Amino acid sequence: MEQRRERPPWIRLLRITGSSWPYAVWWWPTGDACWACGVPALMEGRMRRPGLDMSRSPLLCGACGATRVWPVVFGGTSETPIEGSTWTPPDQAVAELRRLAFNRH
Ligand SMILES: [Zn+2]
Repeated sequence: MEQRRERPPWIRLLRITGSSWPYAVWWWPTGDACWACGVPALMEGRMRRPGLDMSRSPLLCGACGATRVWPVVFGGTSETPIEGSTWTPPDQAVAELRRLAFNRH
C-alpha cells in the first residue's frame, strides 16, 4: 500500500524543480515520443544554469524516467549528449540531470 503511493523519483524531480524556488525549471512537454518507451511524454527542462546552452536543455520522459542530458563540463555544454534511465542509484545521465535541475555545483 505504501509503495503504491510512492511517486517515481523523476516525477518528484519534475514537481520540485518545476514549482519550488530557487530551481525554476520550466518543464515543457515536447509531444515527442520517448526513445526508450515510445510514450509521447518527453519533457524539455528549460533552465538558466552556468555554462548550459539552452538549445541543449535536458530531456526527461515523464512515463519511464529516461533522460538525455548534454553535460556541462569545464563551464561549457558538451556537444554529445549522454542517456540514462536508472534512478537508484543514479547513472551518469540521471546524476547530471539532478545536478543541473537542483543547481548544484
Ligand atoms: Zn519513456
